[in-house]
Parts: sequence; C-alpha cells; structure tokens
Amino acid sequence: MAYIHNTIVDLKQSSPAQSEFYQAVEEVLESISPILDSNLNYQQQAIIQRMVEPERQIMFRVPWVDDSGNIQVNKGYRVEFNSALGPYKGGLRFHPSVNASIIKFLGFEQIFKNALTGLPIGGGKGGANFNPKGRSDNEVMRFCQSFMNELYRHIGPTTDVPAGDIGVGAREIGYMFGQYKRLTGRYDGVLTGKSLLWGGSLVRKEATGYGAVYFADHMLNARGESLQGQRCLVSGSGNVAIYAMEKLYQLGATPICCSDSSGTLYHQEGIDLKLVKQIKEQQRGSLIEYLNNHPDAVYTPTSDYPADGHAIWRYQADAAFPCATQNELTEADAETLLDNGCKTVSEGANMPSAQKAVDLFIQSSIAYGPGKAVNAGGVATSQLEMAQNASMQSWSFEQVDQKLQQIMKNIFITTIDTAREFGQPNNLVLGANIAGFRRVAHAMIEQGVV
Ligand code: GLU
Repeated sequence: MAYIHNTIVDLKQSSPAQSEFYQAVEEVLESISPILDSNLNYQQQAIIQRMVEPERQIMFRVPWVDDSGNIQVNKGYRVEFNSALGPYKGGLRFHPSVNASIIKFLGFEQIFKNALTGLPIGGGKGGANFNPKGRSDNEVMRFCQSFMNELYRHIGPTTDVPAGDIGVGAREIGYMFGQYKRLTGRYDGVLTGKSLLWGGSLVRKEATGYGAVYFADHMLNARGESLQGQRCLVSGSGNVAIYAMEKLYQLGATPICCSDSSGTLYHQEGIDLKLVKQIKEQQRGSLIEYLNNHPDAVYTPTSDYPADGHAIWRYQADAAFPCATQNELTEADAETLLDNGCKTVSEGANMPSAQKAVDLFIQSSIAYGPGKAVNAGGVATSQLEMAQNASMQSWSFEQVDQKLQQIMKNIFITTIDTAREFGQPNNLVLGANIAGFRRVAHAMIEQGVV
C-alpha cells in the first residue's frame, strides 16, 4: 500500500500542518485499497492525486466592527473540493478552531458523503475562525455580512450552495442570505437551511439527527434488534444532538446524556429534551442551567474530564451517538464503551472517532456506522430544499421525512452491500468509502481530465 504512504508524504509537503485532513484522507485510502489494487484504470487516471487536491480554495479576510467599536479580523474559507457529481455542496462552520486543515478534512469527507446520498451534489465546505458564542445578534449580523461580501462572488444555485454546520444555524443563514440578495439583487436558492418563512424546507433542521437514528435503527434491524428500550449517550446539544434525541424518544429509546463545550450532563431518568431545546435554541445558554430545573441530574465540567478522553463515553449505555465534533471519542473512550457493553455507535458528527477508536469498533463487530454514511441525511435534505426552491414548491413535513427515510435506507443498503461485496460485512467504513469513491471516480473518468 505504498500509494497511501506516498500520497500522505506528498500532501505533507504541498499542504503542510493539516493533520485532520491527512487523517480523513488516510482513512479513505486505506479502505479503498481493495479496488485500487484490482483496477489499474484508477491509477492510470491519477484519480487519487486528483481527488485529494481541491478544485479551488478561497481564503479571505473578514473584517468587521464589534459592539464596542473595535475592528475585528477573521479568516474566511470556501473549499470547492469536487464537482464531479454536481454543484459543490456542504456547510459553513463558524468556530474558533477553524483552519485550512479542518475545512479540507470536512470538504474531503463531504465528497463521499454526498456521493452516498445518490443525489447530484458535489463536495465543498467553508467557514471562519469566528466564534458566535457570546456575540450579540448585531455583531453576528455584521460578521455574516462581511463574510458574504467576499463569498457571494463564488456561490450560486447551480455552482456552489453552502449551508450550516457548527456555529451556523438559521440566524446566520438569514443574515448571509440577506446580504447575498442585496449584493446580487437575486432571490436565489443559494444557501440551504433557510427559515421556513422564506424558502427553507421542513425537516431540514431535524434531518441530520433524525437520519443518524434512522441509520442506527437499520443497523440494529439487520441484526434482529431495535432501538426500543435502549439507553443512549448523545454527545453535543446542537442541531444534530437535539434531533437525534427527539427521534430516539420517538422510537422508544432513552437518551441519558448530552454535552456542550463546557461539560457533560447525565440524567438517569432520561434527558428533558424540552428543557435542553429551551436552553440551547432559545436562550443560547449553557447546559449547566439544566440543574436549576433538575437538581438530580449530574453535570461534569470539562475540567473534570478524564485525561485520556471525554466524560460522556464513561457512562454505561447500549448505544452511543457522537454528535458534537471531530476526534471527540478517543481510543480509551472506545475501550470503556465496549467494556461497558455498548453495542451500537452511530456518528452524527463528522469524523468524531479517532482512528484507533474506529479500529476497535470494527474489530469488536459492534454495529458501527461512520459519520459520512450516518449523518448524510442533513445534506440530503439540503438537496431536497434545493429541489423545492428550483421547482418553486414546498413539500409537507411528511413528504420530506418520507424521502429522508428512503434516502437513509438506500445509504444503509448501499453501504452494507458494498461491505459484503468485499467480504467484510461488518466494516461499514469500507462499505461507505468504496461506494462513495466508485461513484465519484467513475464520474471523474467520464468527464475527462478537468
Ligand atoms: N454541514 C452538514 C454536513 O456536514 C450539512 C451540509 C449541507 O447541508 O450542505 O453534512
């Protein structure tokens, strides 16, 4: 497998200091090795070399004025990674940790995730190292307007359609859409995750979390089991985590933990989801406030986390849904989960498990669903939003949810069938990566060297 080593060596030279990006590339390259060895065409066509290099990367200054009148400067990104299957599609992340490595790993993952949905969307990602937390609505608006002052010239409904990700929700999408409209004079379906009042799609907000649970349910059903009665750990308390918990309750399971950047909440009788929604969606507050209503719950601040991992994965449960961020589940966390009898891991976040944790899950033969398959319901429903915008229609909640369920079922079947085809029925990482790769690679070959 010299090509993996060589590709990473080349990337380290041409794109230094991008460890998350190398991690994402290495995982994909390792799992597709069975088809690379047997298909010389991929090598002759330099598919790997072309895939790991984004078609276009835009980096820009985002200056804005805060409420005290000080000038702030952030760094903005849009990486248009691969358009073989359709317009670039992928979210924007506003978080202080954002850098070129994070955006490139997310953009790279997005290519295969989007391919797995079966829909005509290419892969892209963007964002800024801006922290919306603690900022006033006016500050967020000025930041979003400045961000769009550069981004607008690179996007369009048939070229590149950004959406939300960490730190970018309906508020930020609204401010960016308003500025796009002002700059271009066009009411385009250029962003997804829009408000329901002006072009958004029902179920988009819920889609990533719901989809992650639908996928877990398929994994369990294939083993003759179900989520009914299962106790679950759900990390995060953003859009993905909240709607994963909602769907878990609807399917008869009980989420007992969730978390935010300050700590982990454990509530033995089950998380009070209405309260979490109120704290996070309305008050934009911290989970510690949950204790005001439920003094029997336990809150562990990040300062008390184990040195080798995260407090949430140390609770005993049947299933784990990492729905927060990349590398939030370490090897030691994976060992603890397995020792405690956890039988399902379904990743709502992008690349939440460290590589060694992934290896342990696959070796142990539990039901393990990798992020790019499990969380694809979000971007798939974004494409449904694009379809509604383009045809000037709006579909009912039931119609969109039906389509989402069908898409998640198809992703599961494609993934597991591909894993079986390569003699590793339990390795859905291999299944997802090969299935996604094949679709993109064949489209690239058919479209020539561009
Ligand atoms: N940020 C989400 C993801 O990681 C959604 C992207 C989109 O809807 O375009 O897939």
